[in-house]
Amino acid sequence: MIGIIGGTGVYEIVELGEEIVYKVVETPYGPSPEMSIFQLHGKEVVFMPRHTLGHAKPPHMVNYLSNIWSLKKMGVEKVIATNAVGSMDESIKPGDFVVPHDFLDFTRMRKGTFYDDRTVHIDVTEPYCSQLRDILISSGNVIGNGVYVCTEGPRFETAAEIQMFRQLGGTVVGMTGLPEVILARELEMCYSSICTVSNYAASISPSKLTIDEVFEVVENKRKDLIRILSDSIKKIPSDNLCECENTLDGAEVDNFLEPEDL
Ligand SMILES: [Zn+2]
Repeated sequence: MIGIIGGTGVYEIVELGEEIVYKVVETPYGPSPEMSIFQLHGKEVVFMPRHTLGHAKPPHMVNYLSNIWSLKKMGVEKVIATNAVGSMDESIKPGDFVVPHDFLDFTRMRKGTFYDDRTVHIDVTEPYCSQLRDILISSGNVIGNGVYVCTEGPRFETAAEIQMFRQLGGTVVGMTGLPEVILARELEMCYSSICTVSNYAASISPSKLTIDEVFEVVENKRKDLIRILSDSIKKIPSDNLCECENTLDGAEVDNFLEPEDL
C-alpha cells in the first residue's frame, strides 16, 4: 500500500482513483485525519491531508505521530510526502520541484520519536528512501538533490537565519518535513518528499513574503505535481531495492540483562 501525505492542493490525486473509501483510524496519539483510500494504476493508495482537511492545523501543531502511526496501521509501506518550501538558492526558482536527499532539523518543540521506553538510535545517513527518490526523479522535471531545512515556524525565517542555513548547506526551507521523515523511518517505512518551491526565502526574495504568493505558486503547479505523483505510483515496484524495512536492525540498545549478567 502506498501513502501520499499532502495539503489540500494535492487532493486531486484522489479524484484520479477509483472506489474511494474514507476512513479515520485511532492511534495511541489520537485519531488520524480523514484519509481517502482508493485504487490507482492497480495499486491501493491512501491519501492523508497532513493539516487535516481545510488546512486547519498550522505546521507546528500537526500531529505527526498520529499521522505516521495511522499510515502504518493502514498497511502503508511506502510514503510520498509533498511539501511547500522556500528556495535559498537563486538557481532554484518558484515553481521548481526538489526531491531532497538530506535535511537539517531546526525544529524545537516537536516530539520526534515513537520510542520513549526503548532506547532506539536509527541510522539516518540517508534519511530519504533511495528507491522512492529515484522514482520521483525519473517521473518529472525535478531537481534531484537538495538539503531540506525544517524550521519550527509558524513565522517565516529572518534574513540572518537564511544566511546561516545557506552557509550550513541548506537548499530549501520549510516547516513540515520534520519529524515526519524520522517517524516513518522509525516504523521502517520507505519515505521520500517532493517539494514545490513556492517562493524565494527571506533576503533571497526581493519583496516581503506573503502566504498569498505561496498559495498562488502551489496552485499553479498543482497539475504538474499530481502528474508526477500519479506517474510515480505507477512506477513503484512490488520488490524493494532499499534497506528502509530493516531500519531497526542494530538500532536498539538492549535494556535487559542477560541471565549470566545477573
Ligand atoms: Zn525504501
